[in-house]
Amino acid sequence: MLVKKLKTISLLISFLCLGFWASAQKVVQPANTNPEWSKPYPPFRIAGNLYYVGTYDLACYLIVTPQGNILINTGLADSAPMIKANIEALGFKFADIKILLNTQAHYDHMGAMAAIKRMTGAKMMIDEGDAGVVTDGGRSDYSTGGNESTYAPVQIDRLLHNGDTIKLGGMQLVILHHPGHTKGSCSFLFDVRDNTRSYRVLIANMPTIVTDKNFADIPTYPNIAKDYAYTLGAMKKLSFDIWLASHASQFDLQSKHKPGDNYNPAAFMDKKGYDAEINDLQDQFLKKLKEK
Ligand SMILES: [Zn+2]
Repeated sequence: MLVKKLKTISLLISFLCLGFWASAQKVVQPANTNPEWSKPYPPFRIAGNLYYVGTYDLACYLIVTPQGNILINTGLADSAPMIKANIEALGFKFADIKILLNTQAHYDHMGAMAAIKRMTGAKMMIDEGDAGVVTDGGRSDYSTGGNESTYAPVQIDRLLHNGDTIKLGGMQLVILHHPGHTKGSCSFLFDVRDNTRSYRVLIANMPTIVTDKNFADIPTYPNIAKDYAYTLGAMKKLSFDIWLASHASQFDLQSKHKPGDNYNPAAFMDKKGYDAEINDLQDQFLKKLKEK
C-alpha cells in the first residue's frame, strides 16, 4: 500500500516537474524593428464575407460564416487585443472564431495564436510541414530557430496537406502547400460572393528568402532549394480574381485601400501585380542559387 502511495506521489512529482519544465520554456520574441508591424490599421471588408483585421503590415484575415468564423494569421504576441478590437469594430464576435489558420509559422504571424486559441477555443489547423515549429514555438525553425521559442507553442488540432479542404458554414478553403520560407508555408484558395458576383480569392504566402546561409549549408532543411523551385512553379500556375498576402506590403494594401474607403473588391483584382512579385522572387531565388 505504502509502496503504491509512494509510487503515486513520485509520479505526481514528475508530472509537476514536467509541467514546470514546459512552462519554463522561455518565449523570447525578437525585438520588433518594424514599427508598421504593430501599428494599428482600421479593419475593412475586402470582398463578400472576407475582412481585413490585421495590423498596418501584418495581415490577418477573417472569414465570416453562419457557423462561426475563420481567422488566418495573428501578428505579434501583443497583437491579440488589436485583432479582437478590429473584429468587434466590424460587428462580429471574437468568440465566434472556430478555426485558426496560418500561412507561415514565424513569430510575426503566430505571435498571438496561442493566446487567441485560449480565448476562443478555436481549432488550430496547420500545414504538416510547420507542425514541428508550431509545437516548439519556432525553436526548430531552420532560419530563425535557436534555444528559445520566438512565440508561444500552439497545440495542433488538425494537420493539413496540399489540396486539403477546410470547411465551415458553407465555405470551402483549399490549402496549397508552398514550402521554402518555412517548411510548411502555405496559401489558401477559396470563393466568396457578394450581391453582384463571386470572387476567387488567393491568400498567398509569397516565397521570400529568409536565410543568409547558402542553401547547400542548411542540413536541417536539405530540400530547401527544391521546395522553393516547386513553390515558385506552382504559384505561377494559379488563377484567381483577388490576391492578398501574409504582409500588407507584399500586395501593396496601403496603395489599394485607404482607411474609410468604400467597399471595393476590384481594388484587389491585380493579377499583374502578383505576376510581377512572383517574377521578382524567382530572380531572387536564381541569384541565391548562384551564391558561392
Ligand atoms: Zn516569415
